[in-house]
Amino acid sequence: MTKLWGGIEAGGTKFVCAVGTGPDNIRAEQRFPTTTPAETIGHAIEFFRQQQAAHGKLAAVGIASFGPIDPNPASAKFGYITTTPKPGWANTDFAGAVGRDLGVPVGFDTDVNAAALGEWRWGAGPGLENLIYFTIGTGIGGGGLLNGRLMHGLVHPEMGHMRLPHDLAADPYPGHCPFHGDCFEGLACGPAITARWKQSADTLADEHPAWKLEALYLALAMTNVVCTLSPERIILGGGVMSHPTLLAMVQREVQSLLAGYVQSPAILNEIERYIVAPGLGNQSGVLGAFALAELALKQN
Ligand code: ZN
Repeated sequence: MTKLWGGIEAGGTKFVCAVGTGPDNIRAEQRFPTTTPAETIGHAIEFFRQQQAAHGKLAAVGIASFGPIDPNPASAKFGYITTTPKPGWANTDFAGAVGRDLGVPVGFDTDVNAAALGEWRWGAGPGLENLIYFTIGTGIGGGGLLNGRLMHGLVHPEMGHMRLPHDLAADPYPGHCPFHGDCFEGLACGPAITARWKQSADTLADEHPAWKLEALYLALAMTNVVCTLSPERIILGGGVMSHPTLLAMVQREVQSLLAGYVQSPAILNEIERYIVAPGLGNQSGVLGAFALAELALKQN
């Protein structure tokens, strides 16, 4: 029998909750703003209770969460949002609250690890063992699979905060990150574009120099990822990537920065199939949460 999954895409500004079996069968979906942990998590649990009454018992729930989080099942703080600067959310037992209330296994990971898993399961990376997913939006985050497993380690990757060369003569903008100033996120997230050019990213014309600079920062980061992790594919999602010419500019700039050194046809000849848009559109996160639920049940 096909199993029914619950998924939460938990963002800093909104939650998306859904129930279904996969991309072709989302039975219900609800979005609501992220307020206090008690209210927001309570709202999600209530949604799942109602859906269980209508569609039957959920087999497991997956949570694709903003962070930082503790994704290590062996840790006492597994399932917690840990040190987030978001008011009220530090040290929140998120997965535990959901699991205790609904009595189901709960998969818990970063929003970007989950999105990578969703893309691996149903989207732009089926069958790949080494796959990286980035969201380029209000913030920047990266996660993925290495050797077929979601990337964890000391905690989890924080690819959005890698340091990039920043030519202050060409771009005097000091950066948006409250921790590092001009890290990758600080230079290239949506709010950084708006602050640098005094204009929202979605109102900047194609020929505006903002896009060339944005493509450079994205390509510098992707070049670092290619050189350190050697992924088989990189998926770029998030609101900033919806600009129609940006992906192609990044593809070309990555080729240029690598300068022929990484000898793979994927880089040299097939970059359009190597750095790609999400196969699941803007559903990578919530479908990734389904995939986390599936994984949690398997490992339970
Ligand atoms: Zn940073």
